[in-house]
Amino acid sequence: MPTSNVLSGIEIANRMNAETASRAADLSVVPTLATVLVGDDPGSVKYVEMKRRRSARWGLGTVHVHLLSDTSTSALLAVLSELADDTSVHGILLQHPLPAHIDGRAAFDAIPLTKDVDGTSSAAFAAAALGRPGHRSCTPAGIIALLDHYGVPLAGADVVVVGRSAILGKPLAAMLTERDATVTLCHSRTTDLAAHTRRADVLVAAAGRPGLITGEMVRSGAAVVDAGFTPGDVAPEVSEVASAVSPVPGGVGPMTIAMLLAHTVDAAEWRSERCHPGGPDRT
Ligand code: NAP
Repeated sequence: MPTSNVLSGIEIANRMNAETASRAADLSVVPTLATVLVGDDPGSVKYVEMKRRRSARWGLGTVHVHLLSDTSTSALLAVLSELADDTSVHGILLQHPLPAHIDGRAAFDAIPLTKDVDGTSSAAFAAAALGRPGHRSCTPAGIIALLDHYGVPLAGADVVVVGRSAILGKPLAAMLTERDATVTLCHSRTTDLAAHTRRADVLVAAAGRPGLITGEMVRSGAAVVDAGFTPGDVAPEVSEVASAVSPVPGGVGPMTIAMLLAHTVDAAEWRSERCHPGGPDRT
């Protein structure tokens, strides 16, 4: 029975953040991240605060716009357009989820590709799917960096992703395909989820359903990434079957924020070099 290794993201994220801070210090401008929050969802308030604190800690500037929960789509688009035109802002993060009355796709697509450091726009999604320049969606990019760090092979591997959201499962599937993995994307309408997950060399749980992935759903020796927030989508007994499991907290979370900070500095570097985003591909 495999004794599972821990795919910890803490040390890797700290190393990435130190490199990001050093790149930021080399620039003649302070790379600045604008965060936009609509409403007062407690989780979103906490995550935005964490992203801002970590930005400041690693030498990035921050601007924060907090809008009331009844803000209209057009008012939000006006704020995003102002930030898009503001030359002191290098990256824009629009915190999801947005209130239901807002046209979320229109809002994310109002962020120009060069400033879309969270990789949430349709243009960023297309760039990721086609292997073109652009910032990659942060959580998928963090997951792939985590797997790369621990030497988990992706080319030719059977990778099963559970969850197909526009910010996580779908871009991750596209990015893994670019990495030559054979990807199966599962969701709430998948019949016999376990039949798919049991085939996976690499299994990514991104459903937001605590304990969804149980030991019997995992192939012996598989690498398992848990993208869920505490307590995580992966049941504790999976560690007895898998070769490696990412912890919650301390796995995907720190990697996601490290990607966001790195992308913000990429955006500032690209601007200072007056070129289209074509810098380092972090996937
Ligand atoms: P989401 O938009 O709610 O999407 C959840 C996805 O999971 C949907 O595609 C849904 O299927 C699928 N799903 C739900 N129940 C399922 C089930 N029983 N079996 C199979 N699939 C199921 O969530 P999200 O924003 O992608 O986030 C997913 C998880 O990742 C959450 O726990 C979230 O908190 C976490 N997250 C973590 C980070 C990080 O930095 N660590 C960042 C973002 C998100 P349908 O499409 O059919 O509804």
